[in-house]
Amino acid sequence: MGLSPRTGSLESLREHNLLRVIDVLLAQGTASRAEIARQTGLSRTTVSSLVTELIARGLVTEREPSDERDAAGAGRPPVLLALDRSAGAAIGIDVGHSHLRVAVADLSHAILAQAERALDVDQSAGDGFAAAVELVDEVLAAAGIPRDRVVNVGMGVPGPIRHVTGSVGSSSILPGWVDVRVGEEMERRLGLPVVVENDANLGALGEARFGAGRGVQEIVYLKVSTGIGAGIVIGGRIHHGAGGTAGEIGHLLANEDGHVCRCGNRGCLETVAAAPSLLEQLSRTHGTDLDIEDVIGLARGGDPGCRRVIADAGQHIGRAVAMLCNLLNPARIIVGGDLSAAGDLLLDPLRGALRRYAIPTAAEDAVVTTGLLGEQAEVRGAIALAIGEADRPLVQATGGLAAGGS
Ligand SMILES: [Zn+2]
Repeated sequence: MGLSPRTGSLESLREHNLLRVIDVLLAQGTASRAEIARQTGLSRTTVSSLVTELIARGLVTEREPSDERDAAGAGRPPVLLALDRSAGAAIGIDVGHSHLRVAVADLSHAILAQAERALDVDQSAGDGFAAAVELVDEVLAAAGIPRDRVVNVGMGVPGPIRHVTGSVGSSSILPGWVDVRVGEEMERRLGLPVVVENDANLGALGEARFGAGRGVQEIVYLKVSTGIGAGIVIGGRIHHGAGGTAGEIGHLLANEDGHVCRCGNRGCLETVAAAPSLLEQLSRTHGTDLDIEDVIGLARGGDPGCRRVIADAGQHIGRAVAMLCNLLNPARIIVGGDLSAAGDLLLDPLRGALRRYAIPTAAEDAVVTTGLLGEQAEVRGAIALAIGEADRPLVQATGGLAAGGS
């Protein structure tokens, strides 16, 4: 079935175009013939012919339109195409400060199995790695996917990732992870290729592709949980900065006389607006047994103290976001992470501070919303990263089609 070695320029042009169709499907998961034509610049007739060939080879299948995409347009939804299940699989690993989530998906980004575990990973990278390996085995077994079908693994870590070394860029933010080369270590343990990224960047990628940021090129995604991080999307691409650690919004100054932060500075945004700070502020009045879900539940039920700490957090975050808006002029601010479940209790004060502290045009341009993917944003982003960065996806299924890929 392999097309290499190529014998003529017409044949290689067609092969190249087949790969372009596959690239669109790899990036988006599913697409109609018309969308593929739009994105590749090929004519509809050419796309139809290419798709017919890919279907005949068992690489592409037609899917019933899902609800997720129907919402976008009116009328009868077009038939969607996706890569066939047999083409391969990708794994996403989402490491939080207090949880671990692992999912396996096919190359159309559809999640086949998922597992989650509560875990304090900050102190020991080794414990985090070991648990991740167990969960990977668990989801592969649950989905019935053999290990050799996995084309790549994407992994999100809640700290700044130095791109040069693939290690965590601050010893104090993840103390148990100092000098650990996360990708290398996971590759060794899993026996699979692994690509590592900051968790907020993955949340941004997930929401940009499949959630509240679809179709938007300028996005700031905020992950507000045990820490606060931002994934910044400029011109449709994640902005990493020179060393890979851009987006550490949680360590912008919020209160000069505040508490010392785990990063070593004083009064960072995290010290006043992340979940541990909210729990600490409530400890005198509400005791120390609450978790952040309790606080959000109580706030929704009208508890004034819980409402107040969430509103104050929203205001602090809004001030930091106002600075970002003045600098970057994003079209959308997408709030994810545990605290986003508070909805407008958090977002209204955030919007208020944004209007107050940003220049009016920048504040007007920035639509503030919660994410559509909820706690799935990071793991979906990890899968998108894995598929996007896979060396040679489809190489097995095609017997060489993807080997000369772009
Ligand atoms: Zn800090």
